[in-house]
Amino acid sequence: MTLKYNVTVLGAGVSGLSTSLALLEGYPGRYHVKIVATHLPSDTHIDYTSPWAGAHWRSYADIADLQQQAETTPDAGVMFLTGHDYWDVKPKDFQDPWFKAIVKNYRHIPKKELPVGVEFGIDYTTVALNAPKYLKYLEQRFLKAGGVLERMTVPSLQALARIPHSSDGATADIIINCSGLGSRNLFGVHDHQMFPTRGQIVIANVEEHLWPIAKQFTMERYAEGGSMGSGTITYVIPRDNGEIVLGGTMQHYNTRDTPCEETTRAIVDRVTRTRPDLFSTCKVLRSCVGLRPNRRGGVNVSARVERLDWNSAKLQQEHPERAVVLVAHNYGHGSYGYQSSIGCAQETVHLIDANLTELARLRDVVTKEGKVAARI
Ligand SMILES: Cc1cc2nc3c(=O)[nH]c(=O)nc-3n(C[C@H](O)[C@H](O)[C@H](O)COP(=O)(O)OP(=O)(O)OC[C@H]3O[C@@H](n4cnc5c(N)ncnc54)[C@H](O)[C@@H]3O)c2cc1C
Repeated sequence: MTLKYNVTVLGAGVSGLSTSLALLEGYPGRYHVKIVATHLPSDTHIDYTSPWAGAHWRSYADIADLQQQAETTPDAGVMFLTGHDYWDVKPKDFQDPWFKAIVKNYRHIPKKELPVGVEFGIDYTTVALNAPKYLKYLEQRFLKAGGVLERMTVPSLQALARIPHSSDGATADIIINCSGLGSRNLFGVHDHQMFPTRGQIVIANVEEHLWPIAKQFTMERYAEGGSMGSGTITYVIPRDNGEIVLGGTMQHYNTRDTPCEETTRAIVDRVTRTRPDLFSTCKVLRSCVGLRPNRRGGVNVSARVERLDWNSAKLQQEHPERAVVLVAHNYGHGSYGYQSSIGCAQETVHLIDANLTELARLRDVVTKEGKVAARI
């Protein structure tokens, strides 16, 4: 018979929800999953990155990482469209990206189709999603699969492991840290490689008769220096509700939580210069700010069995083995938390699976130690 494990996941962003779903849907009946988080889908807060994402697919992965997938139900807010990547100056060492082999309709854009000021471009079929809608969609799937969601702030991994999992007071066998930037301050993690990269975006819409054109493409424009360079990045991502995300900024270590009006104007100006036919009459609905959870050295996707000392005499006496917990991490996705969400979730779950035997072994050792100690 398959054992049922109690899993507590920290974080209800795209990483926590995707990882929880990979457990529940990948291994039906094996895991009982509870998510605890300060912020839940529908919340908007500077410390909760996921609602602010564009979110489109521009791969930074190497050729070995093909675990990029898309969801295709209307509730998910996912659209397939054409992705245009533009360079003001063609990179001297330009090579076709690795994903040329897996995307549909990849091509170098003919010169006559390029916007004014753009020297080189590629386009291909890509994916964009409505981030807040996608989070709600994941949340619904999670609840439907039997997951439990609880709003709670925890100070440490130890506190996470101590949370009662069910009415009988059982605690977690496995804890998974998907706390994004929260991993900087979480005791037991304190990851100093984490740093915020501020992104300001503008939510706009175009005139109604232009929407059928605007909804067909995403755009990302790379500048070499000048007014379009230095900390700025120009992009356009439509959402399935008629809104369009215009971006943006990449401001490392900047945590200002309010949008800057000057930046909003600069973003609209840059986008308009690229596509005046669509955006010269666009209407700004609001400006927003999010902090990308960047990590020097890349994401932390890992798992290992740890003995978390709880300092609880009762626990030490009655269930010493419960201080031995399988601890997994899935955080630090920077600018690509959505596009890497499914692949990283699957890898995390794979690592958990690979450590279950070690969890059982160490718990056994601790139980025997406890019995010996009790006899002394
Ligand atoms: C402007 C902008 C544009 C972006 N565009 C894209 C894009 O086009 N494509 C793409 O793939 N990605 C994009 N991203 C990046 C993407 O949004 C992030 O990588 C992703 O959302 C990170 O998700 P996460 O679940 O790891 O973290 P978060 O969404 O930040 O979730 C962290 C969770 O942990 C909880 N938490 C943290 N600490 C604690 C604690 N101590 N106790 C309890 N709960 C805690 C929080 O409450 C929250 O629920 C963009 C980001 C921004 C800001």
